[in-house]
Amino acid sequence: MSLVAELGCAVCRRMGYPGTPAELHHKRAGTGAGRRSSHMEVIPLCPEHHRGKTGLHGLGTKGFPKHYGYDEDDLLADVAKLLELGENT
Ligand SMILES: [Zn+2]
Ligand SMILES: [Zn+2]
Repeated sequence: MSLVAELGCAVCRRMGYPGTPAELHHKRAGTGAGRRSSHMEVIPLCPEHHRGKTGLHGLGTKGFPKHYGYDEDDLLADVAKLLELGENT
């Protein structure tokens, strides 16, 4: 889990600033009660991009992709790719 945080904020990374200290956002699966999200559904986000006005929670799951042009799932794909490559910059 800490490996994911060490990747740095996934949004900052897309903006060209990799390695921003991040906290973990757990994607809510929202598919049926009692279904726990897997450890793969965790996105590292800096406090602003997590809980701030321009963040995932601030903009909401509908506002976020409108603002950035990509959504939670795209960020999850980034994370999965980075973990696969073992990149940590
Ligand atoms: Zn960020
Ligand atoms: Zn969150």
